[in-house]
Amino acid sequence: MPSALETSVRAALDSVADPISGKGLSTSGRVTGLVARPDGKIGFVLETGVGAADEPLRKAAEDVVARVPGVTAVTAVLTAEATTGARTVAPPRPPAPAARAPAPAPASVTRPARGIVAVASAKGGVGKSTVASNLAVAAARCGLRVGLLDADVFGPSLPTMFGTVGVRPDLTAAKKMKPVMAHGVATMSIGYLVDPDQAVVWRGPMVMSAVSQLINDTDWGDLDLLFIDTPPGTGEVQLTLVQKLPLDGAVIVSTPQEVALADVRRGVGMFRKTAVPVLGVIENMAWFEQPDGSRAYIFGKEGAQRTASEQGVPFLGALPILSALREGGDAGVPAATGDGNAAEAFRLLAEAINEALTASPGKPAPKIVFE
Ligand code: ADP
Repeated sequence: MPSALETSVRAALDSVADPISGKGLSTSGRVTGLVARPDGKIGFVLETGVGAADEPLRKAAEDVVARVPGVTAVTAVLTAEATTGARTVAPPRPPAPAARAPAPAPASVTRPARGIVAVASAKGGVGKSTVASNLAVAAARCGLRVGLLDADVFGPSLPTMFGTVGVRPDLTAAKKMKPVMAHGVATMSIGYLVDPDQAVVWRGPMVMSAVSQLINDTDWGDLDLLFIDTPPGTGEVQLTLVQKLPLDGAVIVSTPQEVALADVRRGVGMFRKTAVPVLGVIENMAWFEQPDGSRAYIFGKEGAQRTASEQGVPFLGALPILSALREGGDAGVPAATGDGNAAEAFRLLAEAINEALTASPGKPAPKIVFE
């Protein structure tokens, strides 16, 4: 049952005609992922494809929604493909406040001092988001100013892992989104803006457009390091993202089982194709420590490690299966915030990545061994 606010917002959206079908924007199905929060913050995805009319349409949609009584802020995420050159991202476009001021001039995104690092995996479920979250926390605990962008629009898990489900970003005076600070990390996720369940139906160009907006419309401030949790896989969507994002390096997460060998190879191949340096491979779920202290290699032994060396990329370290990692993720408090083994492992991994960013070409990153 939609809330009264959502019903009013949809009615307002229907007062704007979809240029293709002639129907109202909501009725035509162009609006997806609509979130109407009790505090009056509205977010939705506008599925576009009307070329030059896209941006005026977005503005018109935001304007009518901003006038609905009870609405305090509006964010419409446009899904048109960004028409930017390689390794650049779309121009910034701020979300609209309820009383919309003239749009400020686009400002360029300040480049993080140490760089932008993608955390990638060739398939889902290997712990990529767990690793990205904990790496970000660990790097922040090392004294770096760290941002984490959850670009895994197919399954944004950052809000769950950081305990920020339901949070909506505030706007700056310049109408940019303020990252949500959690556990010392400046975080941004599509999950803060639209209904995460809707994102799974997005096609490639929509993903690129949404991710570009998340980067550019966020006032990241001065960062040392920005981690980007990328969607799993090595298909067209991922390749386009990797090509267009201004990445300084990539970390590939994999489990050790046999199929992981092909996965790591595909991941390395994708980053090589786009000339993004692979800073290293992290083997996750490498073993399980049994009550008697012995290790059970549930997913096989050292597969990702072997493949990294075969592919000539650094091996950053192996993480065992630890209930603390799963529990921390589910509870919204990453294990790297604590003092246990997991926190120490991620501290070493974060240091290794930081070092790899400055390492001279050919110099292998230091190897971390989890004990
Ligand atoms: P991905 O981002 O690759 O899809 P996630 O990070 O969401 O994977 O992890 C999938 C599940 O596995 C989550 O429930 C997470 O808590 C758990 N998990 C990931 N790595 C570990 C680990 N090393 N030990 C225990 N649980 C883990």
